[in-house]
Amino acid sequence: MSINRALLSIILLIFLIAFVLTANAAGTSAIIGGTVVDLDGNAPIENAVIVIEGERITAIGAAGSVEIPDGAEQVDAKGTWLIPGLMNMHVHLGLILPGKMKAELADESEAALALRMAAAAREALLAGVTTIRLPGDRAHADLDLMRAINKGQADGPRIFSSGEALTITAGHGSKGGKRNYDGPDELVKAARTQISAGAKWIKILISGGIATAGGDLDAVLMTPGEIHAVIDAAHRFGVKVTAHSGSPTATSIAIDSGLDCVEHGYFLDRPTLKKMKEHGTWLVPTIVVSQPATEPFFKAIGSPPWYLERRNSAGKAHWKALQMAIEEGVNIALGTDQLPHEPNDGTTATVREAQYYAEAGMTPLQALRSATIEPARLLEAEDEIGSLETGKYADIVAVDSDPAEDIKALRNILLVMKGGKVYRNNL
Ligand SMILES: [Zn+2]
Repeated sequence: MSINRALLSIILLIFLIAFVLTANAAGTSAIIGGTVVDLDGNAPIENAVIVIEGERITAIGAAGSVEIPDGAEQVDAKGTWLIPGLMNMHVHLGLILPGKMKAELADESEAALALRMAAAAREALLAGVTTIRLPGDRAHADLDLMRAINKGQADGPRIFSSGEALTITAGHGSKGGKRNYDGPDELVKAARTQISAGAKWIKILISGGIATAGGDLDAVLMTPGEIHAVIDAAHRFGVKVTAHSGSPTATSIAIDSGLDCVEHGYFLDRPTLKKMKEHGTWLVPTIVVSQPATEPFFKAIGSPPWYLERRNSAGKAHWKALQMAIEEGVNIALGTDQLPHEPNDGTTATVREAQYYAEAGMTPLQALRSATIEPARLLEAEDEIGSLETGKYADIVAVDSDPAEDIKALRNILLVMKGGKVYRNNL
């Protein structure tokens, strides 16, 4: 090798090393000075350092115990409390509620729907919600949006979706030009179609609901044979099933078939909740939809009188069911059935939901867990998200007081990071 060639090789090597170092530094940051809340109720880490490389947390501990890599971008979080990104397990990004909204969006195209959903996903993320589960959206726009977010083409929370919810003819959610499925065979085919399209959950509607005029909220509309067939079909693919259910009887039948999760649970009674506890069945309460704090919201969107009446009729039973579920120690993951960022009582639907849990009997820490690590467990994604630990995604929110002392701390979100990228910074 000539001297010139050797020199050239050395120069190239230096450039290569410099490039690698710069590229590495560009993806490295450290959040310093904040207090990391411990979700297990242990003492928090005060004056903490969280090192983030790429999308993940690579070190976390008290200042002095963690080395901050050279060139890391530093985020000063002094005076804040750091928690995992919030999660909301019952979101329809394309939600259309009865009333004015329904009339305005009557002719919405699928492209317009996807754009409206993308805008909602971005707002949700800015509100501190870094993971959402979608139990039913239209035209698989939810699955396309999930892929777009994963590719970095759109900003939004991590999405776990069920694709289209499976409804039966004349059942809750069956109207509005929706395709319905009747009998075990059609439901099994429909479940497999969702799974094939990329759904990670199957959502079935087994009882009556608030948003459908007429019919008993407590009625068991899907037959036991249908319920069993669809749950069995989904489980064979390792896909979990969640059921819209207000009815103790329908819920109990579905638990016997291995149902994983119950949405709403308006009229759940103590024996059914004990059964859920025994089987490890999850409850996603969506308590905001039936409680007084959100009445101005429903009036503002032009909800018709029959809708408000149904809502209020379910409200008292729903609240009691939530209180009993907390007493019985049922697995609870936060979900709202409203957009995560929807204004509610001076905050967002997500935060108001967590606050309701505390008002219904949870400790502030339990309410915080219901919005973070518990949903991660529901999604079986607790190795990746749900708490601030080395190796997990850097989905981090900063608030200005301790939510383990008072859950209302979630009302003041100062920083939102998802996968190591800062989307909102009011520090
Ligand atoms: Zn819903």
